[in-house]
Amino acid sequence: MNAESRWLRSDEGASRNPAPESESWRDRFAASLMKSTPAPLTQLDHGLGAEVWDVDGKRYLDFLGGIAVNALGHAHPVFVGAVATQAAKLAHISNYFASAPQVELAERLKRVTGAGDAGRVYFCNSGAEAMEAAFKLARRNRQHGTIVALHQAFHGRTMGALALTGKPALQGPFEPMVPGVVHIDSTIAALERAITGQTAALVLEPIKGEAGVLPLPAGFLERARELTAQHGALLIVDEIQTGMGRTGTWFEYQQHGILPDAVAVAKGIAGGFPLGALVTFGAASDLFTAGQHGSTYAGNPLATAVGNAVMGEIERADLPANAARRGAELRAAIEGIGSPLVEGTRGAGLLVGVALTAPVAQRVATAALARGLIVNAANDSTIRLAPPLTIGDAEIAEFTALFSAALKDAA
Ligand SMILES: *Cc1c(COP(=O)(O)O)cnc(C)c1O
Repeated sequence: MNAESRWLRSDEGASRNPAPESESWRDRFAASLMKSTPAPLTQLDHGLGAEVWDVDGKRYLDFLGGIAVNALGHAHPVFVGAVATQAAKLAHISNYFASAPQVELAERLKRVTGAGDAGRVYFCNSGAEAMEAAFKLARRNRQHGTIVALHQAFHGRTMGALALTGKPALQGPFEPMVPGVVHIDSTIAALERAITGQTAALVLEPIKGEAGVLPLPAGFLERARELTAQHGALLIVDEIQTGMGRTGTWFEYQQHGILPDAVAVAKGIAGGFPLGALVTFGAASDLFTAGQHGSTYAGNPLATAVGNAVMGEIERADLPANAARRGAELRAAIEGIGSPLVEGTRGAGLLVGVALTAPVAQRVATAALARGLIVNAANDSTIRLAPPLTIGDAEIAEFTALFSAALKDAA
C-alpha cells in the first residue's frame, strides 16, 4: 500500500479537498501562528521515503528533507516502530533517573565520533540547545576568554547560539548580544591572528550550510586544531547539519583527520524526532560538574530510543557510503543538465549547494515547488539540497528531470 492510499480518507471521493476548505488553513495559520516565520509554502499531510503529499493531494519529491533532518526519509518503518514501541513503554522520566536507551545512545555517539572512553555526551532537544551547551563549555574552559566564531556561520536562534551566529541581519533586532564573541573571516591568516592565550574556544561549521553550503578553505580545520591545542582553547565543531553521515562519513571532521574537543549534533540524529547532543572529547569532558547544566526533556527515553533506531539504521544500511556515492551522482547529474543558470555545485555527500549564475534562487525554488519538487534557496544565488540519505537511482533521475524543467521556468 502506498502512502497516498494509506492516508486517503473514505469521505474523500472525486472532489476530495475542495478548494475553499484546502485553502482555509492559510488564514487559520496567519491568524494563530507567531509572525516569526515566513508564510508557509503549502500544508503537508503525509509522506513516504522521499515523497510527501500536501492537503490537496499534490505529490512532491522532497530534496530538502526537513532541512537535513529526515535522514531516513518520511515514515520509515524503523522510525515509526521505534516511536510506537518506546512511547508504549516509557516516554519521559526526568533527569533524576537513567534509562537504557539514553545510556546506549551516549555509548553509540562516543563510538561514531571517535571520542572513545574519555568522551561524554550531553543530551538536549535541538541544535540551538547543543550550541548553548557548547557556549557554556567554552566559558568553563576559560571563563573570561574570547570565543572566536566565523562570519556567515549559523549556530541557532537562542541568545547564546545567536551570539555565535555571524549574521548581523539575524543579530541586529535582538541586540545587545551575549558578550565575549568575536567573528573572523574564514581564512587561515585571520585564524592565525585570532587564536591566542586569551581564546576560550573556536566555534565553526566545517561546511556553512545556511550560508549556502560553503566549505572552509583547504587546511583550515587542520590549522584550527593545531592552534587551539597550542593555546589551550577548545575546538568546537558544529556538525548539526553536516553530521550523521550526510557528508559521506559520520562527521565531516573525520575527512580532515582531526578530532575536536566537542561536536554538536542534532537535525538527522533522530530522523525527525527532536533531539540534540553535545559530545565532548578528552579533558573537555571534565569541564562541567554536577548541577551546572541540564534540561527537563533532555535525553528522555523516547527521543533517545528513536535516536538509537535511526543511527542503527544509518549504520546497518551504510548510509554514509550511500550519501557519498549518491552525492557524487547528483552533482554530476546537475552539472550534466548544462543549464546556463548553473555555475557549479559545492558541498560534500548529500549536502549540496547549486551555485547559480544569477540571484534567482528563490525563483528556481518556487518553479520547482510548482512542478512537485522541494528544494531550498539558501541565499539569493544558491539552491541547497539535503535529501534523505536513502535516495537511489530513481530519485536522482526524477530530481534531474524536475530540476532541469524548473531551471528553464526560472530563466
Ligand atoms: C540547524 C542548525 C542549527 C540550529 O539547530 P536548531 O535545531 O534549529 O536549533 C545550528 N547549527 C547549524 C549548523 C545548523 O544547521
